[in-house]
Amino acid sequence: MSAAFRGQITLDGPSGTGKSTVARGVAARLRAAYLDTGAMYRAATVAVLDAAVDPEDADAVARTVAAARIEVGTGSAAEVVRVDGVDVADRIRGAAVTRAVSAVSAVPAVRRQLVDQQRDLVSAADVVVVEGRDIGTVVLPDATLKVYLTAAPGVRAQRRAGQLGITDPAEIAALADDLRRRDEYDSSRVDSPLRPADDAVVVDSTDLDQQGVIEAIVALAASAVGAGERA
Ligand code: C5P
Repeated sequence: MSAAFRGQITLDGPSGTGKSTVARGVAARLRAAYLDTGAMYRAATVAVLDAAVDPEDADAVARTVAAARIEVGTGSAAEVVRVDGVDVADRIRGAAVTRAVSAVSAVPAVRRQLVDQQRDLVSAADVVVVEGRDIGTVVLPDATLKVYLTAAPGVRAQRRAGQLGITDPAEIAALADDLRRRDEYDSSRVDSPLRPADDAVVVDSTDLDQQGVIEAIVALAASAVGAGERA
């Protein structure tokens, strides 16, 4: 086999594109570390909710998150997420956190704090896959390979429903509304809005299954190795 990929792969895009499964799959294939930055914003949201702070009160949110110890693992297998030493890996996926996370993550001081932490975690790894919304644009602008993952909105809602075991059409429609609301919030915020980096490869997963997306990104990583050798 040719030289192995080394460096950073960023994987950004809206909710419900299968980003996490794909990012973990790519990390496993490349024996890379994996960082889920969404889990960090979700953990910060747990701290805010536990302190009974209004997620829209930016100053109080910033103070609360600054005082919280947020830990995430960088392995691609079991998920490690802790707030002040307490395991919150399950809680961060709950509806209360999902409702409040966009407001918490729009607070600039929260972003600065977590972006610093993300860069520290990434710098400890030779090969790493980092998923989020602003990784290629803000967190790692010099990353080796940048991927922006999209999918048609209806497909995203269907996939999320499949993950949650939801079959009722009204509930699927509510999920689609929630995805749309979060994407609008994330795309229109002033600090680090969701958008593809100018040098990102846009991968549309509407007609691909997750294994197909993983293969496509592994192939892009292989050509990035070649580009590095020729440079
Ligand atoms: O990816 P996930 O759905 O877990 O992200 C939850 C929320 O965290 C997003 O809707 C977004 O508001 C925020 N987020 C962010 N920047 C990132 C990752 C996630 O603002 N890099």
